Amino acid sequence: MPRFQCVPIAAATVTRFRDSGIDDRGNAVIAMHSAAGPCRNCLCNATSDQPLLLGSYDLPAPRGIYWTPSPVFVHADDCPRFARPDAIAPIIRGRLVSVRSYDAAGMCLYDLGEVCDGDAVEGPLFRALDDSRTRIVNVHTARPGCLLCAVVRSGAELLSSP
Ligand SMILES: [Zn+2]
Repeated sequence: MPRFQCVPIAAATVTRFRDSGIDDRGNAVIAMHSAAGPCRNCLCNATSDQPLLLGSYDLPAPRGIYWTPSPVFVHADDCPRFARPDAIAPIIRGRLVSVRSYDAAGMCLYDLGEVCDGDAVEGPLFRALDDSRTRIVNVHTARPGCLLCAVVRSGAELLSSP
């Protein structure tokens, strides 16, 4: 098994969503009550009694032609930033996910891309991480296509690609 780290969205974005209510695209974030959803900071599923904030996030990687923003939820209240090494983020489990691998130039590695049940993500994820071309893997929801989290090899930085 490769050593890896699931990486939440940028801490500065989480703070701005909560403190100023402005997302990465300049939109006012939307407060959602009684909407269960995946928090991109603690990487846990919020229950319907936990208020969420919905905003747009500028992904740090890949840059270039494959760059995209993504709608994301975060808990409206403080939650612990996910930092467990070699652990699949809880929000990946229990939903259909899209595993997207990118190289150091920010190009999509189509042959490593896969849609799978999040409960069986290890196969596609580890295949991507074991491939020397892979710089970063982004795991998205497969149906709406929203970013769940990035995954990098342990010790690698979540840097912008050239
Ligand atoms: Zn959270």
